[in-house]
Amino acid sequence: MSGQDLSQQPVETLAGVGRQTAARLEKLGIRTVSDLVFHLPLRYEDRTKVHPIRTLQPAKAVLVTGVIDWAEVLPRGRKSLIVRISDGTGHISLRFFHFTARQQQQLIVGTRLSCFAEVRQSYAGLEMVHPDYAIIAGDAAIITEPHLTPVYPLTEGVHQAVLRKAIKQALSLCIPQLTDWLPASLLRQYHYPNLTEALMTLHAPDETVAMTALQNGESPALKRLAFEELLAHHLSLRLSKDRSRSWQAPVFSIDDPTRQHFLKNLPFDLTCAQQRVIAEISHDCRQRHPMLRLIQGDVGSGKTVVSAYTALLALASGYQVAVMAPTELLAEQHLRNFTGWFDSFQTRIVYLTGHLKASARKAALEALEQGSAGIAIGTHALFQENVNFHKLGLIIIDEQHRFGVHQRMALRDKGAETGIRPHQLVMTATPIPRTLAMLQYSDLDISVIDELPPGRKPTVTTVIPAQRRVEVMARIQHWTEQGKQAYWVCTLIEESEVLQCEAAEKTARQLTQALPDTRVALVHGRMKSAEKEAVMQAFKQHEIDLLVATTVIEVGVDVPNASLMIIENPERLGLSQLHQLRGRVGRGSDESFCLLLYQSPLSQTARHRLAVLKDSNDGFVIAEKDLELRGPGELLGTRQTGQMHFKIADLARDTALLDNVESVADNLIQHSPQALQPLIQRWLGETTHYAEV
Ligand code: ADP
Ligand code: MG
Repeated sequence: MSGQDLSQQPVETLAGVGRQTAARLEKLGIRTVSDLVFHLPLRYEDRTKVHPIRTLQPAKAVLVTGVIDWAEVLPRGRKSLIVRISDGTGHISLRFFHFTARQQQQLIVGTRLSCFAEVRQSYAGLEMVHPDYAIIAGDAAIITEPHLTPVYPLTEGVHQAVLRKAIKQALSLCIPQLTDWLPASLLRQYHYPNLTEALMTLHAPDETVAMTALQNGESPALKRLAFEELLAHHLSLRLSKDRSRSWQAPVFSIDDPTRQHFLKNLPFDLTCAQQRVIAEISHDCRQRHPMLRLIQGDVGSGKTVVSAYTALLALASGYQVAVMAPTELLAEQHLRNFTGWFDSFQTRIVYLTGHLKASARKAALEALEQGSAGIAIGTHALFQENVNFHKLGLIIIDEQHRFGVHQRMALRDKGAETGIRPHQLVMTATPIPRTLAMLQYSDLDISVIDELPPGRKPTVTTVIPAQRRVEVMARIQHWTEQGKQAYWVCTLIEESEVLQCEAAEKTARQLTQALPDTRVALVHGRMKSAEKEAVMQAFKQHEIDLLVATTVIEVGVDVPNASLMIIENPERLGLSQLHQLRGRVGRGSDESFCLLLYQSPLSQTARHRLAVLKDSNDGFVIAEKDLELRGPGELLGTRQTGQMHFKIADLARDTALLDNVESVADNLIQHSPQALQPLIQRWLGETTHYAEV
């Protein structure tokens, strides 16, 4: 694109857009004229025809005209100006709670008006509150609009009218200049309109374009743009991966005795799948470029030991390792595991979370900076600015799905100053269906551990109504008498941790009372980390029979003797999350059970979802079903989709579009490399900064 590209001009260059409006528009991510063109309507209003007042129905927004036959300011209650218009077929009241003296002078008997608003039913008949209105001066006045009227997403202080006017100008400036980067063959194949047509259809649709199709995403114009946006997101990850191939990374090597020593000290033999993934990783780490690899493996498939082996590669080559987990509980478990596995290597391991005492923190930071510690394990506190490594060679991130794409990219910058980037290994137990992986993980290579350690039996899952709670409690008694342990998981709407903890406390009290011979303890998210740790340790050492918990135990806890789990209100959680929870049992050689204690009545979908869990123990199958039943937003977690900031695409609505993103991306990368950056810039704009490093 050339220097005088009008579309890249700041919005301030448009008539009616001052500095203040420009600043406010920035909150919507709008800086350039082109950004305005891609700011699409939320919905539309139909002002293309005038409706006779007699035909009006409540709850519909319509255009009417009429002559004022009555106007008065009512002081009763809230002072308001009421104006009644009639068009010969009937009459309707207009109600203004705020009005100026000038309005009061204009809105008098005999004045002809056109009004647009939603019709409401009031005690005195139909009315419109604060309609958009215009005074009709002469007979020739044009009242209707030629197109459906767009309603744009707004930000505080910017009026719809201002935005409409600015976008109209932006369109006429930009349309001749915009390049359609999608190949013509693709447009033909999917019956997509070209870029100009698509934008015009969405900003100024003819009344022939059905409003419902526009609003529910069936319009080819919207599909085309949503597709382009998804493509741009995918491309940005692909390019980021390509770019990272040009970075330098430490080359790891390990001698055979060290390798053997580590493996021989493990209390088990690696599964074939673990060995295969280790081979993939070892190959990556021998290259001069950073590994960016994701391990997908169901809960309990043994990802941790694979990551520990990778850490060994780094240590043996003289580099430090950072292991990041999403929760303290999980970080603590990694600390225990790594400490055990590296016991005979004299490697100093430091632990870093947000809750450390200042002195402990200082010591840990010093050890990392001086290089006397080889491994740092912690939560995201590991990656705060003041944490400096002497020679960081490997970053391990567990339960990746909890960290967003952006955080991952930010981490990649650690060590950038030295010109050497660490290798990166990320692990997730939430298998992501291939279609979504394209938007999440296209910057990574993927390894799959598709085999559980030997001797594991699938967990038997039963779906039971909460009315049978007492019966279930009795079953626990029987269970713990046999020397086995159990979990009781209380769930609640995720946002309210306080309520969730209270519910868990109440349940713990109930169970303690009902089961006098069972040792009951409670662990929840609001407890101090040391307290949680103590309870978990006690549970692990079988000083506790029944652990009542909130969903904090979702990840990480590993107690093979606990082979029964009761989950209350499972209908509130996503399938993948339930599957994760359930993965806490079935870790030993005993047959294990999971009881889903639901609150009736269950909706059709909820029934269906719980049945999926009952019938399958395969995380991949469950993730696919979760996608089908709840949509990708739920599956990826709001945090993540929130971070993706789609302008147009809606993953729930546009899932089907994802199918072709990858092949179209391949095509563009091969045949139109000049299209890549402009497409990314168009859709991701400033947020691509991470991709530019
Ligand atoms: P996840 O993949 O869910 O992180 P973990 O790494 O926590 O799984 O492993 C689950 C349990 O299985 C741990 O107790 C771990 O020590 C054990 N484990 C891992 N690999 C094997 C194996 N090859 N044989 C037997 N047990 C294993
Ligand atoms: Mg794990």
